[in-house]
Amino acid sequence: MGHVVGSDGPGAWKELDDLVTRVVENRAAIASLQADEASLLADAVDLMISRTEERRAQSRPRTDSDLPLREICAELGAAMRMSDRTVQARIGDATTLLTSFRATHDAWRAGLIDAGHVAAIRDAGAGIADAAERARYERQMLEAAAHESPGRLRVLGRVVAARIDPASIDERHRVARASRDVRVIGLEDGMARLIADLPAVPAYAICDRLTQMAHTVRDPGFAAPDICADDPCTVGASANPPQLDCRSIGELRADILADILLTATPTAHGDRDALAAICGRVQVIVPVLTAAGLSDQPALLAGQGPIDSATARRLAADAPGWDRVMIHPHTGMPLAVDRYRPSAELRRFLAVRDEHCRFPGCRMPVWRCDLDHTTDAARGGVTSHENLANLCRRHHTLKHASEWKVTQVGSGVLEWTSPTLRRYTDRPPSTVSFVPESAFALSPDGVPPPF
Ligand SMILES: [Zn+2]
Repeated sequence: MGHVVGSDGPGAWKELDDLVTRVVENRAAIASLQADEASLLADAVDLMISRTEERRAQSRPRTDSDLPLREICAELGAAMRMSDRTVQARIGDATTLLTSFRATHDAWRAGLIDAGHVAAIRDAGAGIADAAERARYERQMLEAAAHESPGRLRVLGRVVAARIDPASIDERHRVARASRDVRVIGLEDGMARLIADLPAVPAYAICDRLTQMAHTVRDPGFAAPDICADDPCTVGASANPPQLDCRSIGELRADILADILLTATPTAHGDRDALAAICGRVQVIVPVLTAAGLSDQPALLAGQGPIDSATARRLAADAPGWDRVMIHPHTGMPLAVDRYRPSAELRRFLAVRDEHCRFPGCRMPVWRCDLDHTTDAARGGVTSHENLANLCRRHHTLKHASEWKVTQVGSGVLEWTSPTLRRYTDRPPSTVSFVPESAFALSPDGVPPPF
């Protein structure tokens, strides 16, 4: 291989030139394949339409109108090892592109623009209803895409769309407003990102209020300068000078936000007392030796990943209802929880074993799932851990209303068979992430669950 960096002389530039050419060609090839994938995904909609008509012809009673699409997304998602919700979103994007931005798709297919450019053009222009105006917007954007990065193109797209179709701003905001939501994304190192999609006005107001509060914590005189205006000397000369908080403004903003959201009660939504009684819930798995401060084996936030041991110990000390879970020392399979009342016990056991919905790829946490009898009770399925699994509402419906089949093959392992007869194995997350460690041996080998 050549020595591009640090070499002088024309040979080095030649090598760099070749490298740049090869990278550009490679990107064009990738772009072209991605455009083909978008075409394939858009075909799913045609397939869905024909399946819906087929069902209507057979007059099969179905309540969920988008079931055919969900079936297709589940089948594709399992094969692509992606969540079916992601596949559904991609199908939506591909359909918008192929129906409303044909020239953009052509440029993508020709390798002239990247996926980032395509998303910027599609997202900012999707609200332009008039086809001729949309085509004008698309031409202008494709010209810009030839020399701008996707990030710049996205900002430009909003401005161009607003100029071409000013009336659509209110309408677009009305539609966008309906997508306001709060989500959380797991990050590395025991962190997670809380994202709130809000109308711009409250979003900026919230950030301003948090910033003012953070400054006030750091410097109690910040928000009330009038109080000490007559006698500025008393601020610094007080017998008990304010404690200097060494947290940064950013850290304070985050801490105050968490404090408010975990403790404050909404005043303008629903029954105040009922809402005040609701606490945030998380499922944290703490090895017993870590809880005792004797090991630094990580505690796990179920379905997400490791959290720091100080937080885990604090939670263990404060939590009012703490389930102790016996874990198989070699497989990580939860074996038992040490409480009585069998049905609640079984429910807790399955919450620990499953952590989230057990459809391939789905991560809906167990407290938003139903316990599903793998083999229906009506067909002789028993109510035991070997025949129960957590499924979210979406996949619970899919299982009952579509051709997807599932069996349990022992140790909590589910074998799913798709309508096209592809097979997928879904293992309990606790066993997938478990690292055998003698310090975890809380129960004798091979002890079966006591129910
Ligand atoms: Zn699910």
